[in-house]
Amino acid sequence: MDSERVRHEIFMRIAIEEALTAVAAGEVPVGSLVVIGGSVKGRRHNLRESLNDPTAHAEILALREAAASTGRWLLEESIVYSTLEPCPMCAAAMVQARVRQIVFGARDLHWGACGTLYDIPRDKRLNHQCIVTGGILAEECAKMLREFFQARRIKGREQVGEMAELVEGGRLEIV
Ligand SMILES: [Zn+2]
Repeated sequence: MDSERVRHEIFMRIAIEEALTAVAAGEVPVGSLVVIGGSVKGRRHNLRESLNDPTAHAEILALREAAASTGRWLLEESIVYSTLEPCPMCAAAMVQARVRQIVFGARDLHWGACGTLYDIPRDKRLNHQCIVTGGILAEECAKMLREFFQARRIKGREQVGEMAELVEGGRLEIV
């Protein structure tokens, strides 16, 4: 295995740990990191339920944290890790921030905007393109989501979110 992939897996494991901290609060387990020069400048999980905010995806929160910590909204040297393929909103935010590389785990056939439904980071009509690397620890990233929704079903909750439908409908796949 090449050294770049090994490095991606090390950071993806941190993103997975971060995603798992979402579970206790009933949040869908998605985690994201912003890494600059080999150090983590942003590390967040999905907080959509807790903040009652449709934009509180892990990636948006991690980008905000990295921008605050570096004092710049431009994050040209950054690599953003996400356990799930970023959605159109998050992928566009990464282009806005001039992120160098996006690394994700499981592919999202329902919302994925880094090569699945859309390919926003590599759309040449926009003024910046990001390198995209998918499928890093994809099975572990997808398993975390499957287990979350299985547990939620066992608890007998009737309301299942769109992600549950996505997993149950087999639309969430690994790369
Ligand atoms: Zn998103």
